[in-house]
Order: sequence, then structure tokens, then C-alpha cells
Amino acid sequence: MVHGEDNGPESFELDHTAVAAPFVRIASVKTLHSGGQLTKYDVRFCQPNVAHLDMPVVHSIEHSLATTLRWHSDDVIDISPMGCQTGFYVIVDGPTEYDAFLNLLEVAMRDVLTLDHTPAATPRQCGYAASHDIRGAQAAITDFLAHRDEWARVFSH
Ligand SMILES: [Zn+2]
Repeated sequence: MVHGEDNGPESFELDHTAVAAPFVRIASVKTLHSGGQLTKYDVRFCQPNVAHLDMPVVHSIEHSLATTLRWHSDDVIDISPMGCQTGFYVIVDGPTEYDAFLNLLEVAMRDVLTLDHTPAATPRQCGYAASHDIRGAQAAITDFLAHRDEWARVFSH
């Protein structure tokens, strides 16, 4: 393993001033030593350095999508919030199928809109169970879905 300035996370190389949120971007594709492949998607809700989601909203989107994505796919390995509160990473097992992923995300998000509470938001199941906002999460997802035809457009020009 070589360490150096070229080996940082790929997101540190992304020009965050050049993107146009919302969008869904292939952040990276990783071929594993075992021969399998992982695709990491950048699911960006908010324009970087312009807007962000409140933490309870981030947290409820994380819990909700972690649940509903798995209703439709066995290939989702992880969904994790970005510390900048502008979006999420989703890691999927298998070769990159970008359009199929957008469709999966869409149906999983529509399912979130049907939830009446955040899944697993109890002190037994979560490390900060008081910090959730399912209505805020649903509002953010409603807005994200309203831009469905723009998800594949990552850069402003
Ligand atoms: Zn939690």
C-alpha cells in the first residue's frame, strides 16, 4: 500500500464549487482483492457551501433510506451521511449500474414518504435517538424527488 497525496479520498479532489445539487454521482468504483466490485454513490441533496440539512433531518434520512433501500435490493452495503450535511454516500455491491441505482433510489425514497416514524429511532437501536425529524426528512426527500430529472446532471456547466 502506497501512501501519498494522490491517495486521499476522491471527494477531496471533487471541485465542490462546480457541482449543481441535487445530483447523484459515481464517487468511486473499487475492485476488491477478492475480485468483486463496489460502487460508491454521492447522493447530494444540497449545494455545497450554500445549503445544508439539519442534523436531525440527516439522521432520519440515514435511518429511513437504510431501511427502504434494503426493501428493494440485497446489494446495498452502506448508506452514510456526509459530515458537511449536504448529502449521503451509498455503497453498492456489484458492477456499476447507474440508471438502475437511480431507479432504486427513487422507489426507496418514495417509500420513505409513507413512513409514520423514523425506523430504529429508539435508545436501544440508535446512538442519539432524540435527534430525529421524520417530517423534515420527508420534506427534504420530496424536494429531492421533485428534481428527479436532474439527478444525472452533476456539474453546473
Ligand atoms: Zn441513529
